[in-house]
Amino acid sequence: MAHRLYSIPMEKEDFEAERKKIHEAADLNGYDEEFVNKILRKHGRKRHRRNATTLEPEKEEIKRISLPFFPKLTNTIQNDLKQHGFRTAYKSNHTLKDLLCSLKDKIPRDEMSGIYEIPCKSCPAIYIGQTRRKFKVRLKEHKNAVDNDRPNESSVAVHSKENNHVIDWDNAKLKKCVRKPSHLNAWESMFIETAEKPLMNEDDAPITSALFQLTKQKII
Ligand SMILES: [Zn+2]
Repeated sequence: MAHRLYSIPMEKEDFEAERKKIHEAADLNGYDEEFVNKILRKHGRKRHRRNATTLEPEKEEIKRISLPFFPKLTNTIQNDLKQHGFRTAYKSNHTLKDLLCSLKDKIPRDEMSGIYEIPCKSCPAIYIGQTRRKFKVRLKEHKNAVDNDRPNESSVAVHSKENNHVIDWDNAKLKKCVRKPSHLNAWESMFIETAEKPLMNEDDAPITSALFQLTKQKII
């Protein structure tokens, strides 16, 4: 009866009526009042304790943080943050630059822009040029100028015609991929100024500076 009193939800009046019935029944069975009160208090405490522990725990807001992954360091930081209620997730260290570089690897080199070299088959001379279009397109223009004897269109055609030399088209290559057109002059100048072979180029490098020579020096 005591269990029923506390386990069935009821209004205060009904609760008191029920409590009274328990006392009467106990009295009829020869139990004294204090004994009955003791049992009722015990059930009351038990009920209270159960309610207190089965209540929905207050949801704590989970703070999340993402960290780049560096072995050792990340684990240490993660443990510290955990003590302050932060959950950590690892963030990829790959940057947009990395993605672009891997993309670059998938593009055939002759479809990129930049600084290229065309060697001569008959002598050690090379031609160094720049293109903001695809290397293969620019190479074809040089080849057409040579094949069609148009020296005014290409220094390579001039070299071939004046020396009666054969151009080594198969070993022509893009030396440096340059995406920013504004960087082309600087890169071309550096390759021209630091070239270790004779050049077919008729024009000087777009930028002349002693600084290019310094790139060849060893720092002691
Ligand atoms: Zn040559």
